[in-house]
Amino acid sequence: MRAFQLVKWQQPPELREVPVPEPGPGQVLVKVGGAGACHSDLHIMQAPAALGEGTRLPFTLGHENAGWVDTPGPGVTGFASGDPVIVYGPWGCGLCANCRKGRENYCQHTSGQGGGLGSHDGGMADYLLVPASRFLIPLGTLDPREAAPLTDAALTSYHAVKRSLHLLGAGSTAVVIGTGGLGQMAIQILRAISTATTIVAVDTTAAKLEIATHMGADETLLSGDQAVTRIKDITRGQGAELVLDMVGVEPTLRMAARVARVLGHITLVGLGGGAVPVNFSSPPHECSVAAPYWGYIPELMEVIVLAQQQKIKVLIEHFPLEQAAEAYRLLHDGKIQGRAVITPHA
Ligand code: NAD
Ligand code: ZN
Ligand code: ZN
Repeated sequence: MRAFQLVKWQQPPELREVPVPEPGPGQVLVKVGGAGACHSDLHIMQAPAALGEGTRLPFTLGHENAGWVDTPGPGVTGFASGDPVIVYGPWGCGLCANCRKGRENYCQHTSGQGGGLGSHDGGMADYLLVPASRFLIPLGTLDPREAAPLTDAALTSYHAVKRSLHLLGAGSTAVVIGTGGLGQMAIQILRAISTATTIVAVDTTAAKLEIATHMGADETLLSGDQAVTRIKDITRGQGAELVLDMVGVEPTLRMAARVARVLGHITLVGLGGGAVPVNFSSPPHECSVAAPYWGYIPELMEVIVLAQQQKIKVLIEHFPLEQAAEAYRLLHDGKIQGRAVITPHA
């Protein structure tokens, strides 16, 4: 089968011919419908060397996967060939306290890496080997080619919003910095589950802000000092209850610290590698900061329901497997409007 693999650090990935994996006991072979191209893959491709424990080269990229069950391994029940499924991405041990709560992203025994992140092959291939059927969620009527980004772009955003819902009462303000693949989902999720919150979208490009308006943002602002002034105006000088930084470079984090309010919260989602100093008055008093990684299995089930109810929808551009490199080039250049999804079986 074909697989789009990272072969050498800091070298372009290659489309290679590899054997179709055979599912062992408890495992499931999935025929890939869609594999989303996440900005994290660009960070991985640019990384100087191994990302974490268990990382090895070569490995197949693609950690945002959906498809159809091809072959359930021995002992697998509840799934049959042809079932449309989405793949929960962070693969934990399944047995530690966090895993038993469905929080395999925070497994206490593994790095919480799944396929496509260095330790296992990912979904930018004809087939994906999923190590346990508990990582599969049925898609029902959703098409895997349209649904794939729900398992990362939407799940990560859903987790980030849901853990701060207690801050988002009527009249509250949430700021989303960076309205690409993840930010667009965060806006729609805020719109769907926190209806009385004012949503402010911030990006560096006008085109992305126009999309943000269609996705439900109440106000859109170009990144910079004027955005800070305007957010202070909207919130009568108080700042926002919740700031989601989907970029994570120093300028966006600095902006986040300036637009968050006393007792508010800053969520750092972007892997831009930025940092800001903490002192007595910045971030504001009792404003907390957290950097969540991905989301929980039950939350992915909730995300699927939101999509089935048509409350969230990913803006997708499809690419055949042969054009995976081109999809990443466009993503790197800021030319993907929403999410690029690779479809090996288009
Ligand atoms: P993307 O390329 O689709 O979107 C990034 C957006 O940020 C673009 O619209 C871009 O114009 C905008 N942007 C860039 N610089 C900006 C600035 N200074 N101010 C405002 N906007 C700016 O990327 P994505 O796939 O949505 O990923 C976003 C980030 O989230 C990446 O760093 C990715 O690695 C990270 N990520 C984190 C997790 C997690 O679990 N924490 C999960 C997935 C992705
Ligand atoms: Zn990702
Ligand atoms: Zn575990």
